Amino acid sequence: MTMAEKKTEKAAVKKEEKPKEKPLEKLPEKPVEKAAVEKPAEEIKEKKVEKPKKKQKGAYSRYKVEERGFVRLRPFCERCGPGYFMADHGDRYTCGHCGFTRYKKS
Ligand SMILES: [Zn+2]
Repeated sequence: MTMAEKKTEKAAVKKEEKPKEKPLEKLPEKPVEKAAVEKPAEEIKEKKVEKPKKKQKGAYSRYKVEERGFVRLRPFCERCGPGYFMADHGDRYTCGHCGFTRYKKS
């Protein structure tokens, strides 16, 4: 029985040594690819949230401060009432809220 056991032990050792000849396995590369794909997606979401804030102009851009106080550079919309400024298009004012257009008096 001793001879048979030694033969089986040697065969088992040889089989275990064979996988060592192939050290290059693709398992460690997969986690790195996943992390690289997730990071850019988070950065894009953050940029989309910040964009609308840049478009908004403060109320100070619609007023002109003078010695008396402040003067409105643009009129309020006649339909929407105070608080809705009309855009200056040179010869006319337009309301971006309701679309009302008023021509300037020349
Ligand atoms: Zn309006």
